[in-house]
Amino acid sequence: MALNPELEAAFNDQVNLELTSAHQYLALSAWLEAEGLPGMAHWMKMQSGEENDHAMKFYQFLLDRNARVVLGSLPKPQSDFDSVTDVFRAALAAEETVTAAINSIYSKAVDASDFASYPLLDWFVNEQVEEEATVQQIIDDLERTEGNGHALLMLDRELGTRLGEDE
Ligand code: MG
Repeated sequence: MALNPELEAAFNDQVNLELTSAHQYLALSAWLEAEGLPGMAHWMKMQSGEENDHAMKFYQFLLDRNARVVLGSLPKPQSDFDSVTDVFRAALAAEETVTAAINSIYSKAVDASDFASYPLLDWFVNEQVEEEATVQQIIDDLERTEGNGHALLMLDRELGTRLGEDE
């Protein structure tokens, strides 16, 4: 069954939003590396790669459903921050935007009884719970380290050990 035009547009918007998210995470990575926090920069770069993978899941789904992929332009990501905590707050805000978008597509899929979309969207609903919880935990840790260089260094080392999905 073909995707209805509204869902086709929504899935295309989501490809763009995931690519926007990848772009933003890369900007966060660059800021952190320039500030001398290579572990956190690594974590953000891995996250950027994961967002690209998310974009490709929606991209492939569109093609599998015999729909057209229409790529858009990406907004310029925020690249200047007041603090490390602000960087992770920007990441959380981006994730919350993505979560709202996934929920909105889910509502459209339910309205259209487009059952073939449900497994993909369920995966993303779970993924977003995990993403938000992970970033929130890092923000909590950062708020505890405020002003303590040693604690910040420890957290940087810890985040530097993040492995890819397949590793
Ligand atoms: Mg994502």
